[in-house]
Amino acid sequence: MFTERTVEGIEDMSLPIADAVNTPYEDPLDLMDEIEQLKVEQDATILAHYYVDGEIQDIADFTGDSLKLARDATQTESSTIVFCGVHFMAESAKILSPEKRVLLPDLQAGCSLAESCPPDALRMRQEQLRAEGHEFDTVAYINTSAAVKSLCDWIVTSGNAREIIDRIPQDREILFVPDEHLGRYLNEVTGRNMMLWPGSCMVHEIFSLQDLQRTKKKNPESQIIAHPECPRNILEVADFVGGTEKMRTHVTSITSPTTFLVATEANMIHPLEKAAPQHTFVPVPGIMTSTGETCACNRCPHMARNTLTSVRNCLKHGKPEITWQPWFDDARDVLVRSLLK
Ligand code: SF4
Repeated sequence: MFTERTVEGIEDMSLPIADAVNTPYEDPLDLMDEIEQLKVEQDATILAHYYVDGEIQDIADFTGDSLKLARDATQTESSTIVFCGVHFMAESAKILSPEKRVLLPDLQAGCSLAESCPPDALRMRQEQLRAEGHEFDTVAYINTSAAVKSLCDWIVTSGNAREIIDRIPQDREILFVPDEHLGRYLNEVTGRNMMLWPGSCMVHEIFSLQDLQRTKKKNPESQIIAHPECPRNILEVADFVGGTEKMRTHVTSITSPTTFLVATEANMIHPLEKAAPQHTFVPVPGIMTSTGETCACNRCPHMARNTLTSVRNCLKHGKPEITWQPWFDDARDVLVRSLLK
């Protein structure tokens, strides 16, 4: 049986009490200088996901989506990787680069989507389906814990999902976990009828169609670009659907200045603006609250745990660290087969 993420896979995350409780204001420029110095002392490379704050993306050696970063991690020569993202991403980096020390700035940086599919619940569902006579492959989106990956046949990202699903014989059933919206979208584009797990991302779930349409009315010439983790009602009105790397490629392929309404985590606008400064990017707001205000739900609270202070602290103290767990071996086989071959 797998135990909780907060216990397994992590060495003691607690920082010295002085750091954790009384955190005085620190000048961001001083913090950046300190991080640069610690990087050299600790022989470290910083990887940052597109959903963390722009100031962290700016000090990173590599930025990208989770697939690109997992691959980048295997290419770095330094002995330490600081993964500015969430827990499952740092796990994947460790699994693909077992010889490296992998640090995650804040252990509480989880993922609502990954947590919607606990490994024991998945195992029970698989056993139930087998008992009912189903013959199936389990395909997991990369936003899953290593314990879940170890129970799966394939790992996909929004970038390679179609290709991997097409590899599975048509007469074989597929159980897709954990994102129901992405699974439904993939069923539409591949023509399969995958069995879906009822999971979703708290950020992409919440986009307001009403506000999106209102923003579109104000910007009639704009293009709506949406992540496939968004619900169907958002994808139906989108001009372009794709993961974060595909979004980047899409906006850079358009030369004339265009306004894009962006339905994904709002920090994604930072790399889009850097890649294609000729355009205007407008974040799509979350659902209206009862008071009539739009919420700030298009920011991922887990990604927001990555701050300059937490990056500096983890470099300084060498923790929290992702350590090798027994199920990482099986997870590695699936990850390598799916993403590196
Ligand atoms: S944006 Fe959603 S899927 Fe991505 S890390 Fe946050 S909760 Fe998880």
